[in-house]
Amino acid sequence: MKYKLNKYIRVRFAPSPTGPLHIGGLRTALFNYIYAKKNNGKFILRIDDTDKKRFIKNSINYLIDSLKWCNIKYDEGYGKKGKYKPYIQSKRLKIYKKYINKLIKNKLAYYAFDKKKTLNLYKKKYKYFIYNCLTRKYLNNSLNINNKKIIKLIKNNKYVIRLKTPYNKIITFYDKIYGKISINTNKLDDKIIYRSNNTPTYHFANVIDDHLMNITHVIRGKEWLSSTPLHIIIYNYFNWKTPKFVHLPLILNKKGKISKRNLNNNNIPIFPIKSNYKNINVKNSYEELGFLPEALINIMALLGWQPNINNEIFNINTIIKLFTLKDINKSDVHLNFKKSCWINHKYININKINNNKKIFNLLKKFLIYSHIYTNDKLLNKIINLIVNRIKLININEIWYNSYYFFIIPKKFYIPLNIKKYIISNKKKIINYFFKLNCFFKKNPNKKQIILFFKNLQNNNNDYYLFLKIIRILIIGELKGISLFDIFYILNYKNIIFRINNFKYIILNYYK
Ligand code: GLU
Repeated sequence: MKYKLNKYIRVRFAPSPTGPLHIGGLRTALFNYIYAKKNNGKFILRIDDTDKKRFIKNSINYLIDSLKWCNIKYDEGYGKKGKYKPYIQSKRLKIYKKYINKLIKNKLAYYAFDKKKTLNLYKKKYKYFIYNCLTRKYLNNSLNINNKKIIKLIKNNKYVIRLKTPYNKIITFYDKIYGKISINTNKLDDKIIYRSNNTPTYHFANVIDDHLMNITHVIRGKEWLSSTPLHIIIYNYFNWKTPKFVHLPLILNKKGKISKRNLNNNNIPIFPIKSNYKNINVKNSYEELGFLPEALINIMALLGWQPNINNEIFNINTIIKLFTLKDINKSDVHLNFKKSCWINHKYININKINNNKKIFNLLKKFLIYSHIYTNDKLLNKIINLIVNRIKLININEIWYNSYYFFIIPKKFYIPLNIKKYIISNKKKIINYFFKLNCFFKKNPNKKQIILFFKNLQNNNNDYYLFLKIIRILIIGELKGISLFDIFYILNYKNIIFRINNFKYIILNYYK
């Protein structure tokens, strides 16, 4: 594929390794990837690991594995060679130190000494208290107290460094999705940007890195939109050009914004793959539930992006071709499990050969485990017939759609109208069962079966009700593929057995 050449576009995905990557993060990675590919740009993976308190071991491995599973390849970044190395923030501490010193020197950042506890008390006392350009003059910081004291406190590591936001200034920026945004700096707080243990906070490190790594477009979740003015102030303080901002709508489930901390998600998976890493034990993932990675890509692309065409199934190449930022919605999006299953179902059928194999292997394994013997040829035939009904490639779903080929139903779900019909037409039905019995005893072929049922239809006003009864006696309920297809596969003895089994039930229970 050839796209408009724009050498300069550089986007990044900058997750924090604070737990397993969820679908929200992966969607951000995907949109960055798509945007880079569309514009012939570079997609960079950077690990934002400055928050050591929330660091969770193995989250980077999980992240890399998830990207791999989805085939979202990055051009540059963590674990790869690149001009802007290192791509993990904990290895860039010297760089941040240099820049924080610059801000301090220019009096654009300052040391603040009040303890968290003290500030929390102020918050309790004054409802709208924030540490900012209006309140800082009343607080303990290097702008107010004498030098001797400052030196002592810094020596004792009893400080944080805060950004000195300008007083009463309007910060305006354009977000490619949310448009023009303006905010008065009096409403912003003087955010902590550096800690006494020589580590930057996210806000500071992220701006420094985006600048030094020549990031042209910051594409990330909307939860960062409110922090963007602060980032812009930092860019301005260094006289750096700001990148373009693209904030993606939030992804919600029934309980609110999805996040690693909100795992109770009404059974909608939020993690892409299963993992048994220490500290990262992910269950109920898209992978385990039987989603295909290419379907997940399609599902995620539709989380916020709505192209102006009458189709919702597109592979990654088509997505890249169609993608424009204009088609990204402002409103939050909901994870819709039913729709996700429908999309997955479409993908199962797009790559039938491969997916039939996967279904075959799962089913065969299960049958062996359950001591049910069948041959591969028959199994393939069955899979070909049921694949159109399978939404997820997992054994529950496969078995739900195929059990009646292998076992005789023990429970029968008979709708009320059919029950009533059976009770008042028992003799007639038993009579038809007798005919069926005699017919199947001859081990009929396809043609003969079709002919038999045609005749039956001509001589029976209740033919369709009768077919329903046959379906129930074969499957146990009113579902499944065409009855004729089932007849062609089931051994005639098996059919006869099921007819007699059901006849017995009718005679005994519907007296
Ligand atoms: N480290 C931040 C996160 O985990 C990145 C936010 C950004 O893209 O600027 O979401």
